[in-house]
Amino acid sequence: MIDLSSLSYVLAAVLFILGIKKLSHPKTARDGNFLSAFGMLIAIVATLIFYSEINYNYIIIGMIIGSIIGATFAIKVEMTQMPQMVAIFNGFGGGASALIASAEFLSSGDITTFTMSSIIISVFVGTLTLTGSFIAFGKLQGFISGQPIVFPGQQPLNALLAIGLVFVGFLVIQTSGQLNYFYMVIAISAILGITLTVPIGGADMPVVISLLNSYSGIAASATGFVLMNNGLIISGALVGASGIILTNIMCKGMNRSLANVIFGALGLEQESSGEGSGKQVSIKSYSTEEAAMIFDAAEKVIVVPGYGLAVAQAQHAVREVAEFLEDKGKKVLYAIHPVAGRMPGHMNVLLAEANIPYEQLKDLDEINSEFEDCDVALVLGANDVVNPSARHDKSSPIFGMPILDVDKSRTVIINKRTMNTGFAGIQNELFGFDNSIMVFGDAKDMLQQLLKDLKDL
Ligand code: NDP
Repeated sequence: MIDLSSLSYVLAAVLFILGIKKLSHPKTARDGNFLSAFGMLIAIVATLIFYSEINYNYIIIGMIIGSIIGATFAIKVEMTQMPQMVAIFNGFGGGASALIASAEFLSSGDITTFTMSSIIISVFVGTLTLTGSFIAFGKLQGFISGQPIVFPGQQPLNALLAIGLVFVGFLVIQTSGQLNYFYMVIAISAILGITLTVPIGGADMPVVISLLNSYSGIAASATGFVLMNNGLIISGALVGASGIILTNIMCKGMNRSLANVIFGALGLEQESSGEGSGKQVSIKSYSTEEAAMIFDAAEKVIVVPGYGLAVAQAQHAVREVAEFLEDKGKKVLYAIHPVAGRMPGHMNVLLAEANIPYEQLKDLDEINSEFEDCDVALVLGANDVVNPSARHDKSSPIFGMPILDVDKSRTVIINKRTMNTGFAGIQNELFGFDNSIMVFGDAKDMLQQLLKDLKDL
């Protein structure tokens, strides 16, 4: 029986890995998702069948409640609220791991040092993930300030808490499970989750969410060692590792080190320097009719989608405009910045939904050399990812972040509704450049009108 359970877990692990591999390309991502989900189903069924001491009543009640909550969230959530949903789900994952490890601690009599250490790691990482994710959720949802919250002595306090945690964790093992020390581990971990997350804000939140996602995997893996369940060890390790890899990719996309994200308090620099946010730029505002004439004369057009395109749900409208231009013999490409939108891969998902061919989607490295011989760069609801201050303005909070070099195109047509700033809260000097033209309005309305005007030419 045990062998069969191990075999099922190995099969599940193979499916997880194949699934992750397929997730790395938009074309195969849906299949990848299905494969991984199927792997998880195998792991769950194997656990239910091969562990006879399970109380099925509780499992069924838990599954019903969990499925209702999960499905409701998944159906209701807006695409743009995805980061906070991921944040809160990470938190629940960490919390679940901590609860299972705590249950083992409270119900088992004679616990070995190895199991006790695993329990402490699981409770520590799981509880930290729970409270940290809740803060991240609050910051993105808006009921906690999105700006970094800092106070004097914050980092020494964190260091003290971390040292205290190691000490108390050691005492739990030394005393073979003294309950008071165990509760102290939970309390310190919960506080540490909060104090580590509150100073992070602004554009760094996605990196933190990705990191917390990794933590939730580490907590699950540690719980796997507590229960000696191979399925949990493997799936937790995969989440932990892929979360760290994603965190690294996002740090690179923003040209920041992880240490700088965690201890740098980005938004605070922004507030104190205030550079750019108040600077006035003089702009040229065109109608869609005038913009249509520029497109008519263009041969090569690069579309730069951003968060605003997702808000406007203008992905189908942009495809229609692009197809019209292509029919007229023009070349159209799409430039995808790694942190455009509000979640990794946001723009890929959005454009894929409108059946825009993958071959036309170009990553930052591929597309940047293309702007020099581009007639029109059409910036749709993107702001921070095309802000040239990232190249030269050391006081800018996005200084050093690689950007899409749209300003090198002959003409840049920028669509947004107002002169409001983007996620990083800073004004964009691009809007005032000689070759820049603003076409104000909701992205979808603007594109629909532009298409009409193009047809009327
Ligand atoms: P930005 O947030 O910089 O700018 C989006 C712009 O879209 C705004 O200036 C807004 O201006 C405009 N906009 C909003 N609604 C509409 C609409 N209906 N129609 C047209 N325009 C609209 O977006 P970017 O994509 O350029 O940059 C992403 C930012 O988000 C980066 O700072 C990144 O670090 C951060 N981030 C990225 C995450 C990720 O994983 N990708 C996750 C979380 C944050 P206006 O209001 O005037 O219309």
